[in-house]
Amino acid sequence: MLVLVINSGSSSLKYQVRDVEAGSVLAEGLIEKIGMGNGGGGDGEIEGPRDHAEALELVDAAIHEALGGQVFHAVGHRVVHGGERFAEPVLVDSEITRAIERLNPLAPLHNPAAVLGLRAIAQKWPELPQVAVFDTAFHRTLPEHAWRYAVPDELYTNHGIRRYGFHGTSHDYVSRQAAALLDVPVEEFDAVIAHLGNGASVTAIRAGQSIDTSMGFTPLEGLVMGTRSGDLDPSILVFLARAGWSPEDLDTMLNRQSGLKGLAGNNDMRSVVEAAEAGDAKAAMALAVASYRLAKYIGGYHVAVGGAKALVFTAGIGENSHQFRALVADRLGALGVELDSVLNLERSRDPRVISTPRSAIPVLVVPTDEERAIAEATAAVVNSGR
Ligand code: AMP
Repeated sequence: MLVLVINSGSSSLKYQVRDVEAGSVLAEGLIEKIGMGNGGGGDGEIEGPRDHAEALELVDAAIHEALGGQVFHAVGHRVVHGGERFAEPVLVDSEITRAIERLNPLAPLHNPAAVLGLRAIAQKWPELPQVAVFDTAFHRTLPEHAWRYAVPDELYTNHGIRRYGFHGTSHDYVSRQAAALLDVPVEEFDAVIAHLGNGASVTAIRAGQSIDTSMGFTPLEGLVMGTRSGDLDPSILVFLARAGWSPEDLDTMLNRQSGLKGLAGNNDMRSVVEAAEAGDAKAAMALAVASYRLAKYIGGYHVAVGGAKALVFTAGIGENSHQFRALVADRLGALGVELDSVLNLERSRDPRVISTPRSAIPVLVVPTDEERAIAEATAAVVNSGR
């Protein structure tokens, strides 16, 4: 089955056409500056498409050329927030689209764009099955003691304030790949998965299910990220609000100016590692803060899962930065974790073990592939008529 995978951002649209059975990518691309190119465009500015419908026309033209007459059979959408309702991928109809739209307040930057994408495709190709695959869905198995915040109950009942978790498609895919590599049935797999990209989260897997994860109500909680702070004392926000910071100021500071960027002046892990190696003290401290935070989560989740059978690194940093993996592993001596320094240095696109045979917990690098996971989930839903 050929599946068009769509990842709609507020001003961008990423797409891939995947052959699910062959596991191949037939076309891919990125449309940017949606809704930004008209009216006020300055000198020399390239005009972007007016809206998501117009962006789809560009996608259609590009795909048409790349597929040379073949047609795709379904569309799979990455949807960031599935709230409490969606625990698995679903076939989309207008009621489902409205349900996703009702979740807009929980993911104001992401869900509205997904809704635009769903509606634009329903209009352009009304016969084509569309499937929504949610970033939160894999974490619907969190027990209540893990998803509750210790705040007045009405914040949950009236406002939906609880931990939801994100990156679920990746954590799900990577944990299944890791279980397969270790030859453990996924329903018996206990592990800690660290998805370390520009956004980063770590998940506790017990019996193949997510039982805790570091992102919470929004993708801000938890680890030190490229530009996001992760955990901090909430009183800091009260303190700053009293000092005159607006909600927008706080949002910008926490989501765009913090993390590696706030500590080291750069959100790109490669640059931060290079700067630290060249003797930059701020960069070295940023790496120390980020690796220490992650090591604390790994220790906690090792307890949460009752003894992890694997520690798995994935996404841009997890797959590529042997330096950052080594910094984290160095802090895990108490768990008996021991990296093989040669295996850790090896570069590969394959899932692999990078710990020594003596390591109490095997450490793995497993490349993530969210588009592949979305395409496979879409095909499964369409084939089952769910
Ligand atoms: P992602 O969001 O998964 O694309 O990951 C982006 C992050 O991965 C950025 O911080 C990059 O600096 C980091 N990254 C990508 N390639 C490398 C590499 N070869 N070495 C270190 N970090 C890398």
